[in-house]
Amino acid sequence: MKKAIVIGAGIGGIAAAIRLAVKGYAVNVLEANNSFGGKMTQFTLNGYRFDKGPSLFTMPQLVDELFTLAGRNSSDYFRYQRLDVITQYFFADGTRLTAYQEPAKFAAEVEQKLKISREKVEKYLIKSRRIYEATAPTFLHKSLHQVQTYLSGDVLKTIPVLPELGLTTTMHAANTKEFKDKRFVQLLDRFATYNGSDPYQAPATLNLIPHLEHNLGAFYPEGGIYAIAQSLVKLAEELGVHFLYNERAEEILTENNKTTGVRTVKQTLIPAEIVVSNMDVVPTYRKLLPQLTAPEKTLQQPRSSSALIFYWGINREFKELHLHNIFFSKDYKIEFEHIFQRKTISPDPTVYVNITSKLSPEDAPEASENWFVMVNVPHNSGQDWADLVKVTRETVISKLSKALQTDVNAYITCEQVWDPIGIEADTSSFAGALYGSSSNNRLAAFLRHPNFTSKVKGLYFCGGSVHPGGGIPLCLLSAKIVGDLVPSPSDK
Ligand code: FAD
Repeated sequence: MKKAIVIGAGIGGIAAAIRLAVKGYAVNVLEANNSFGGKMTQFTLNGYRFDKGPSLFTMPQLVDELFTLAGRNSSDYFRYQRLDVITQYFFADGTRLTAYQEPAKFAAEVEQKLKISREKVEKYLIKSRRIYEATAPTFLHKSLHQVQTYLSGDVLKTIPVLPELGLTTTMHAANTKEFKDKRFVQLLDRFATYNGSDPYQAPATLNLIPHLEHNLGAFYPEGGIYAIAQSLVKLAEELGVHFLYNERAEEILTENNKTTGVRTVKQTLIPAEIVVSNMDVVPTYRKLLPQLTAPEKTLQQPRSSSALIFYWGINREFKELHLHNIFFSKDYKIEFEHIFQRKTISPDPTVYVNITSKLSPEDAPEASENWFVMVNVPHNSGQDWADLVKVTRETVISKLSKALQTDVNAYITCEQVWDPIGIEADTSSFAGALYGSSSNNRLAAFLRHPNFTSKVKGLYFCGGSVHPGGGIPLCLLSAKIVGDLVPSPSDK
């Protein structure tokens, strides 16, 4: 049986392992940590359970597809519910807005709270759908680095909508053109942060993201986001995938420009015809492939933003909060200037609070809540994080206390913190960037590393640092593209 190795048990690596096992390979997954998940992991603290990384789940069909591919029924392993309320927004001027998933309901709420006609909001969401449908089949579902992609009929579908794709303008400029209300523009601009980018630089093509939430829906997995990784690992193991933990890959072995296997930290040499790196592509080249000339232009693309997260056990309930809550800054432009130009944290950051105990009460003790409190921050470039964490903690507490009209600090019973240095240490993500390279320019999609390299036969790449990008759905799609690229084991 031909052998494949996947380096890293992040969501992309787990999905790739499933696809290769279904294809007929004997698959080993080497994971540096003592468990799977990468950024998608969990921990418990004083009776509170926290999803450590991702909290928003869209496109669940990409998870379901893996079970179907393996001939299983997804709901036997993994259940999720569609959210009626996606996000509770708190604007700096005191306005509160509930973002319902259903477009008509959302548009009615925007009309009532922000005095923007519901027809305009609905029209915007229809346009968002058109951008998604014109671009996704080519830019997300296929390799951008193979001629076949450009010969497919899908490319033709983008032609009629080219003027709408917004390739020559920024998200913010496009949103400002559509809406005068600064609050609604801020709400729409926020979608740039879904892949760690800056709405004042990222192309307006990213205005396809609202379609994912408001037309296709946002979801909550039973048991929290970690349940996605758990259920997929269960499936992978049933398919015979072998997970080796505390087994850091140290070198990808090659001979005559072909992969032959991997050497691990335990000095074990594991042979394989196929190697898939789910490790961030920068350390993959720098650490595991020292013999290869690295694609410097690609590796030096600007990194996405990172995050600073405070995980708080809160010993009271806040009825006005939902699963996802956003407390906006007063001036978004200044906030993004701090992140991307000054490479520091704004003194008035937008604060995101995720509370899974709203839907999974077992995640917190009785009458308590598990708060995941996150601000977008620059990736690590040597800042004094200890100081930034200290200052930002005070800013965040004061901001939330003002918005919720109560001293939040008084209810924090336990705390854990994750900053860009911790994110890099725990997941090997270069500079602690959450989504690999940023999408802050119009060529970003083409400058991300492909899912293969023409320099080494048998070597592939998946996960958030390579095409098509970061975030759970795109990592799953990267694994799908790898699954399509890898030849069948019976091929010569
Ligand atoms: P990673 O999660 O990066 O895992 C890589 C794995 O490789 C790790 O387990 C690591 O230990 C292992 N590894 C590295 N080097 C080696 C080696 N040499 N040998 C063996 N193993 C190695 N996405 C969303 O869709 N929605 C969200 O709401 C969201 N919010 C986020 C919030 C935070 C705080 C973070 C950190 C991320 C968030 N994301 C979100 C992004 C999402 O989590 C990631 O894009 C995705 O989980 C990355 O998966 P991956 O496949 O790239 O692997």
